Parts: sequence; structure tokens; C-alpha cells
Amino acid sequence: MTSDAPLYRNHVMLLSEIFFIKDNQAELLLCAHKYDFDIIFFNEVQDFVVAVENDHGNSLCVIDLDALHNMQADMHERRKTLMLSELLQRLPGEHTYVYLQSVRQGGRFLLQQRLVDSNCLAYAEKPIANDVLVDRLFTLFVQKNRGDLVRLMHLGEPIGLDEAALLQRRVEVIHHSDAQTLHLRVKELQPDIVLITEAEYERTEAIVRVLKKNLEADPVREITLLQRQPDAALTRRALASGFDEILLMTDTDVLAGQLVNRANKIRVNKDLIGKDRATGLLNKIGLQKKAQELIRQAAREGCPLAFGVVDIDKFKTVNDTWGHYFGDIVIKRLSLTLAPHMGERDLLSRFGGEEFVVVFWDCTLEQGWRRLDAMRQSFAAIPFEVKAGDVRHFSFSGGMAAYPEYKSENELFLRADAMLYVAKEGGRNQICVKPSASALK
Ligand code: GH3
Ligand code: MG
Ligand code: MG
Repeated sequence: MTSDAPLYRNHVMLLSEIFFIKDNQAELLLCAHKYDFDIIFFNEVQDFVVAVENDHGNSLCVIDLDALHNMQADMHERRKTLMLSELLQRLPGEHTYVYLQSVRQGGRFLLQQRLVDSNCLAYAEKPIANDVLVDRLFTLFVQKNRGDLVRLMHLGEPIGLDEAALLQRRVEVIHHSDAQTLHLRVKELQPDIVLITEAEYERTEAIVRVLKKNLEADPVREITLLQRQPDAALTRRALASGFDEILLMTDTDVLAGQLVNRANKIRVNKDLIGKDRATGLLNKIGLQKKAQELIRQAAREGCPLAFGVVDIDKFKTVNDTWGHYFGDIVIKRLSLTLAPHMGERDLLSRFGGEEFVVVFWDCTLEQGWRRLDAMRQSFAAIPFEVKAGDVRHFSFSGGMAAYPEYKSENELFLRADAMLYVAKEGGRNQICVKPSASALK
């Protein structure tokens, strides 16, 4: 296939000699590709070390310790098996590693201790199923990559948090001064954490219940009380009122550390729930939430939105002719083709298998049609080499609808999907915004 952009966002470098992985190399790769990463296999410590040294911290380095049995310390001393300590010594120190160990190794605490103290990012016990291993490695990528901002709303007197430092750790602090309108601001800005100081809680005790009992409130959101000093009676009362968490404001560094930890956990959970693993794009759940938020913003700012549904043409034939594996690559390539066309406030989602949704901010139906049609042309221009010397092109069809003509995310979707049907009926490889032939298809 021809294209310059790499197909997978992340890479794993795996040092392994052992049969459970080797035998299933193809299956392991297939699993990994569905989670947007590629695996580079190494047999020799030497080659692995060179690759790790040349990596710029973007890859995960995984070592199967069973490999030790089959590795020689020195090419010329074939009989001497490499010892664990020798291996650990040879690994570049400025990287971290994921160790795969046997149950027997895992049962020896001293060995475990040795491992977790040796630049260990994580360890796993074998046997471990390929899909489980891939799923866990994916979580490590999610934790490692600079993720989305986590929004924290603070009600009450200033507490001296270093907000610039928090922003660097991907936590955005927003202040709100009025307890009686906090629920409105929360609804508008959808923060992930709400911090309420003790004084505010004492003044307006119902505040936490007003936030929590709203059926539409995000269940992942954490409502946190900031207590001045330890006070068990107050803590008990606050927990009974519905606070998820109680933190002390005695030391702002400690508090900042706690908030960053909470934010990291929330970010990982949100990613796992709201994003598609194979492309890193929003999934159906993530899109619904973001689209509803965008529609609220559009209503406030008086902006139009264009909502498009995209579906690859005759994709069953692609799968049937060249296999599911190739089909996955086409889906991946489409996601990589669409992404650069998106503006900062636009949304792009892998809504289902080979279906994508785009939402263009501040965009009319006509402008939206032009943008989506340009994306259609870019995709149709990509040459896919299905086998040596056999180059094919694929296409997608799309349907569009616009806000404010259609008001809710659901209405927009239904209308755009109906227009997609018109596009398919009309011969595919086109974008439709009206039920029948007209100036805009
Ligand atoms: P149409 O032009 O009418 O859209 O024809 P189509 O063959 O694309 O029909 P449809 O959209 O109904 O079929 C979608 C197919 O996509 C069915 C399913 O097997 C396949 N598919 C769904 N998700 C994936 C995936 O993640 N990977 C691969 N390889 N195939 C998928
Ligand atoms: Mg489909
Ligand atoms: Mg299709």
C-alpha cells in the first residue's frame, strides 16, 4: 500500500524467543493492529538494545524473560546462558520495560522485587492470552501519551494551587464563585472534578445533592470536598451528603499531587469508555457526549453545525475478496485520511465498523458538503496495492444534516443517515444533503 503516514500510532518492541508468542506472532499482530499499535520482534539482545537506544520514548519495550533460556551471553560462548542480572544490566537505563515472566518466576518474591526495581513499567505473568496482553499494553499507551485535558471546577475561596503547573499535567482549573449557580456552570462546562471548599459546603449543604441527583450528570464526575483540617464528624456528614472524595487543603503540594493522580485515572477511564481503540477516535459513546456538548455551545454562540455520516462503499466485498485483515487496513487508512481535515473544534468519530461521523463547527450545510466532498475525493485518490502490481481504489458515501435545522444529536444523526441512504441508492461515492437530485447532491 502506498502512503507516507505510518499506519499505527504506537509501537511495541518485543524481545522474545519463546514459542507461545512466536507461534502466534500473526495473531498477536492482528490483535495489536486493532488497538492501533504495531509490534517489532527481536530475537537478539544486541539488536533490541540498539533499537531501544534509538527510540525517542514513544515505544513500549517488552521483554519475555523466558527468552533468557535461549539467549547466549556472547555469540562466541554458545554454552553460557544469559543471566537475568546480565540482561538487566545491558538494558539502557533511561527507558522503562514491561517484563513477561513465568508463574514460577512470579512466585519468587525476591525476583519480583528485583524486577520491579529494574526500570519496570509493568510486569505480566505468563501464560497470558494475546488479546489480554494487547489490551493491557494498550492501557499503558493510554497512560503514557499526553491525553485530553481534565477539567476541574473549584467553588470557594482561593486555596493557592499552582494552576500553571496543573495545566502542564493536563488539568485545567476553572473558578466559580456562586454556590447557587454552580449546577448551571457544571451543566455548561461538564467538568470531570468539582472541588467544593468546606466553608461553601457549610453555607449551602444541599449543593452536592443538587449536582449528584441530576439524572443527566456524568456518572464519572467526582464531587470532592476540601476540608480545612481533619475533622471526622464533618467528613462523615460530607460522605452522607454524597461527596465522592474528601481531601485536605493543609498542604497545596500534596493536594496538587492527589488531584493529578485522580485526573490521570479519570482520563484513562474516559479514554477507555469513549474512544475507539483501533483508531483513537471517539467511539459512539464519546461522540454522543461531545456532540451534545458542541450543540449546547452552538446554541449559546449562535453558530451552525454540519453533521455528516460516512460509510465505506461495498465494504463486504473488500473483506470477502482480500480478507478482514486488509479490510481493517482500509478502515485505518480512512481514519488517517479524515483526521487532517478536521479543525480544532470539529469532531471525528468511528461510529461503528466502517462508519464514521464528522461534526463541523461553525459550518453551514453547504460548506459542510464541500468539506466532506473534499475528504471523499482525498480518500478515493488513495492507491491500495491489494497484491503486487494490483492497485485498487475505494470510496465512501456520505449524508449530511445541519444544526439549527435539526436540533438534537439524534435528529441530526437520523437525517444525515437518511441522506447517506440516498447517496447509496444514487450510486455511491457521493455526499447527499437533500432527498433528491439538486444543486448539491
Ligand atoms: P454499502 O456500499 O451499501 O455500504 O455496502 P457494504 O458492503 O459496505 O455494506 P455494509 O455497510 O452494510 O457492510 C459493512 C461491512 O463491514 C459488514 C462487516 O462485515 C464489515 N465490518 C464492520 N466492521 C469491520 C471491521 O472492524 N473490520 C472489517 N475488516 N470489516 C468490518
Ligand atoms: Mg456500514
Ligand atoms: Mg458500507
